[in-house]
Amino acid sequence: MQKRQVVIAGAGIAGLTAALSFARHGFAVRLYERSPILEEVGAGLQLSPNATRILDRLGVLDIVSPATVRPDAVVLREATTLAMRAHVPLGTIGERRWHAPYLVAHRADLQSALLARVAGDNFIEIVTGATVANVEPNDDGVVLSIDQGGIVSTTQTPLFVGADGVWSQTRRLVGPNEKSRFVGQLAWRTTVPTDSEAGRGFAGFGSLGAVTTFLHSGFHLVAYPIRAGSAINLAAFTPGTAIAEQWSGETDAGALERAAAGAAPALLEVIRQAGPWTVWPLHTVDASRPWSTPSGIVVIGDAAHAMTPFAAQGAAMAVEDAFTLADAVAAARKPAEALPQWETMRRHRVTKVARRGALNQFAWHAAGPVALARNLFLKLKSPQGLAADLDWLYGWTPPGWSDERL
Ligand SMILES: Cc1cc2nc3c(=O)[nH]c(=O)nc-3n(C[C@H](O)[C@H](O)[C@H](O)COP(=O)(O)OP(=O)(O)OC[C@H]3O[C@@H](n4cnc5c(N)ncnc54)[C@H](O)[C@@H]3O)c2cc1C
Repeated sequence: MQKRQVVIAGAGIAGLTAALSFARHGFAVRLYERSPILEEVGAGLQLSPNATRILDRLGVLDIVSPATVRPDAVVLREATTLAMRAHVPLGTIGERRWHAPYLVAHRADLQSALLARVAGDNFIEIVTGATVANVEPNDDGVVLSIDQGGIVSTTQTPLFVGADGVWSQTRRLVGPNEKSRFVGQLAWRTTVPTDSEAGRGFAGFGSLGAVTTFLHSGFHLVAYPIRAGSAINLAAFTPGTAIAEQWSGETDAGALERAAAGAAPALLEVIRQAGPWTVWPLHTVDASRPWSTPSGIVVIGDAAHAMTPFAAQGAAMAVEDAFTLADAVAAARKPAEALPQWETMRRHRVTKVARRGALNQFAWHAAGPVALARNLFLKLKSPQGLAADLDWLYGWTPPGWSDERL
């Protein structure tokens, strides 16, 4: 048995969940984060039951729960008429169905909860302002070069986990140096206080207790409550051209308003009143390329398989990756021996989830006869039937979990 030790690059959702998951098996974990301060960009995050049951097992759910909202439904509405097209029950009905809660949270609240658990775990050492700059395989695993403000040190580990996000530098270590791909869509995000002008405007036609997606051929907009209901997260998606590989900061919402032309005046007014908006280019990573090497290097989360957010599953996949990887490695004689089988299992799941996101995008932006067919399909489905279509996604449990342990 090799030393139970792991080094992780990146303290995002994937890296922090991996640290807790390995520590749970008694591994000594060192987590390097490039940023000197752990601050989280982004806004809202939907946490579906496949992720919350793992966060519960890791002791994170109780910490984050007070800041979250448990929506009672996922609702689809036309952006032009605001007519309801679908209603998928969540809340107690969803929890009974999938054995774990469906929550919506601010990303920073989830990150703080993960960090609080990491800080209280003696098996985990977190080093900020430290970039994993180079990784070289050797007979005992890999040697890492760590750059801390220009001072470079080295460390040896039998297992190195690259959880360094969509613009990962470590991805090139496990396969051809392929960059992420811009998918031609921009994500616009903002949060508004519930008692602001935009918040009150939204409450006039939207539900403050649900996740609502407004469908339109030129854009779609997702709205849901966060921060225990004191704010509303708005995320809109429009076609666009590639911009910088980061949140671009505050942005003139003119292009968003143009894409939303024809939407119901009340919805357009909320878009105008909300803001400032930040904009983010959507990049994906081809999930079919390698994720691991025989020397003990593995990438997880967005670094391995960034997907479009149209199934709201990127962070959930990062959580699933991290937890299942630690289970698989803990059960193996040598870490590297566990990687090929783990990779095959995860690739199957992640590819299926990414396909669901692509289907959502197609359906939500449909126009003309395709939109009519979509609406007819949704009309013929009962709310329970729509929920049942998601059993494979939300009802998923890590291998080896029995029902009693849910
Ligand atoms: C608009 C939008 C909406 C979304 N909504 C949802 C949703 O509702 N539900 C959901 O599940 N997912 C959602 N996602 C996806 C989700 O946000 C991501 O999949 C998830 O945050 C990825 O986490 P990660 O830890 O893999 O990467 P990241 O969060 O990018 O973390 C990577 C970390 O690695 C650090 N790092 C980078 N390089 C190095 C290095 N060399 N050394 C050390 N550290 C390094 C970075 O500083 C960073 O902290 C959404 C995404 C977008 C764009």
